[in-house]
Amino acid sequence: MELNSKIPSGPLAEKWDRHRFEMKLVNPANKRKYSVIMVGSGLAGGSAAAALGELGYNVKCFCFQDTPRRAHSIAAQGGINAAKNYQNDGDSVWRLFYDTIKGGDFRAREANVYRLSQISVNIIDQCVAQGVPFAREYGGLLANRSFGGAQVSRTFYARGQTGQQLLLGAYQALERQVAAGTVRMFPRTEMLDVVVVDGRARGIITRDLVTGRIESHVADAVVLATGGYGNVFYLSTNAKGCNVTASYRAYKRGAAFGNPCFTQIHPTCIPVSGDYQSKLTLMSESLRNDGRVWVPKKKNDARAARDIPEDERDYYLERKYPSFGNLCPRDIASRAAKEVCDEGRGVGPGGLGVYLDFSDAINRLGEHKIAERYGNLFQMYQRITDDDPYKVPMRIFPAVHYTMGGLWVDYNLMSTVDGLHVIGEANFSDHGANRLGASALMQGLADGYFVLPYTIGDYLVKLDAGKVDADHPAFRAAEHEVNTRTRTLLAIRGKRTVDSFHRELGKLLWEYCGMARSEAGLRTALQKIPALREEFWQDVNVPGSDAELNQALEKAGRVADFLEFAELMCADALHRSESCGGHFRVESQTPDGEALRDDEQFSYVAAWEYAGVDRPPVLHKEPLHYENVKLSQRSYK
Ligand SMILES: Cc1cc2nc3c(=O)[nH]c(=O)nc-3n(C[C@H](O)[C@H](O)[C@H](O)COP(=O)(O)OP(=O)(O)OC[C@H]3O[C@@H](n4cnc5c(N)ncnc54)[C@H](O)[C@@H]3O)c2cc1C
Repeated sequence: MELNSKIPSGPLAEKWDRHRFEMKLVNPANKRKYSVIMVGSGLAGGSAAAALGELGYNVKCFCFQDTPRRAHSIAAQGGINAAKNYQNDGDSVWRLFYDTIKGGDFRAREANVYRLSQISVNIIDQCVAQGVPFAREYGGLLANRSFGGAQVSRTFYARGQTGQQLLLGAYQALERQVAAGTVRMFPRTEMLDVVVVDGRARGIITRDLVTGRIESHVADAVVLATGGYGNVFYLSTNAKGCNVTASYRAYKRGAAFGNPCFTQIHPTCIPVSGDYQSKLTLMSESLRNDGRVWVPKKKNDARAARDIPEDERDYYLERKYPSFGNLCPRDIASRAAKEVCDEGRGVGPGGLGVYLDFSDAINRLGEHKIAERYGNLFQMYQRITDDDPYKVPMRIFPAVHYTMGGLWVDYNLMSTVDGLHVIGEANFSDHGANRLGASALMQGLADGYFVLPYTIGDYLVKLDAGKVDADHPAFRAAEHEVNTRTRTLLAIRGKRTVDSFHRELGKLLWEYCGMARSEAGLRTALQKIPALREEFWQDVNVPGSDAELNQALEKAGRVADFLEFAELMCADALHRSESCGGHFRVESQTPDGEALRDDEQFSYVAAWEYAGVDRPPVLHKEPLHYENVKLSQRSYK
């Protein structure tokens, strides 16, 4: 396998423009002759399908929900970054680029991140033109707030519902194309395999989730926009349906998996409340604009928050990181929360929580102002915990939130399989070892509206492969494999539910491959996961049949993939013996407990190649070259 990142030559700021000029264009009259399969219709897939339809391509778009409007992107709360510098507070394309590279702990490609920063400004214009109701200042300009890892205010938002509003914008654009006949939507349809013919992705195999029908779809190119895999941990802030199946099956067909162990643990989530909980809830990072994080100075302090006087509180983020304070990046804030809880200073049941306190902001600005900014988040918190955050501090704890790892792609967003493109959270590309807040929406929309529509044209126009159809032996073979796997799952009729396996896998990963990772722990996980997988294939109980709506069957397929993928994650985490961003190896830390990188040995993207059942994956390395920023120990002090 060859990893060619295809980064264009020339000065950083000119690469994308020059590349756009050098790429071949498809004659407008010829675009309708090309067909593209888009798997996923969240922000990345929805925007890409709409943009490709508008250009005139023939697009088939798939999602497993009943409508694109229910993609997990709808859950995004806090905002989307863009280097507009409306605040006149020192922002620029360069600063956004630098913050993102540094925020990712110098494990992302310079060229991709610079392009992302450049495009960020176009995204806002596009969304405003669509009618996305971003918050505005009194004078009419779009409002901004701050997110972690930045000292400027560059985050555009629509209350705590930014993802929903952006998704509605993309959805309208998509539906317009559906009405125009350029995009055909396939809701409630799950992709279960990618079909590769003569080294090129030429289609997919799907299952209709209502009727159970297995079908082949053929195209000239395939795009995966299938989101992240944080749910491998069972408990996460992701929507319950998020999974790794599309990416993992593409990996098994030859697409390299980039940095699979890079997981983001978000510092501000509602703590776990019991063994049978199935979901965790995020409290947006935007809350740290006004909320102050603290714990009691004394260990095991059981007093209520209001009874702890000011001088007995430790505002540990403000103390440790005076320049960024409560808005230090997520990996750093999460580790700091773990540290104070490990010291016995955590609050709430089990001592696994810290306070996020709005009393100062309420006293300064008034309750109405805080309600204006975060009303729906406060309401959500109160509904879940029955505590009123206007009166008592929120209690929060870190939780799995986002996956920086994903399928490896080159600068054109193409994987190691020709014609298979990957966009949005499903690819590994722009966030390095830690994603800054409000950068995922930016990346998904940059990929979908502005990058892929150019690069896929260049691929298609150079395509000299002949037409294939669904009777091709590769399609027949893939369909057969999908059918066999489905029937095998249904035939086991064991004693344990799919969820019980998933929960056990999640606990195991959280313990050994979560916020702190050690060589011994990862080796333990690598022993336990295959045993759990074997038990799954012996003892899982999947009721019902394959010819009907069967959610247990859907979950079983996804959990089976998680059970294989988890091993890849742990192998990646084990081989990377440095710490970087959210990947914290306890063996590699600075004297004050921060992540200690080893640039000599690990300044590369780890891209793993599938080598077959029961054979270890093969590691390929894409070296990362920093020509424009200086590598340094990250500091937010
Ligand atoms: C609670 C929460 C809040 C967040 N807030 C923010 C924020 O404020 N700002 C920010 O920048 N980021 C935020 N994020 C991150 C951001 O929301 C996601 O990274 C982003 O929305 C992912 O978009 P996507 O289009 O790549 O994937 P998704 O929105 O997850 O869409 C995936 C699509 O793929 C489809 N799909 C998946 N697998 C298959 C399959 N096998 N077959 C068919 N279809 C399939 C799904 O149906 C869906 O349409 C937040 C994340 C969470 C969990």
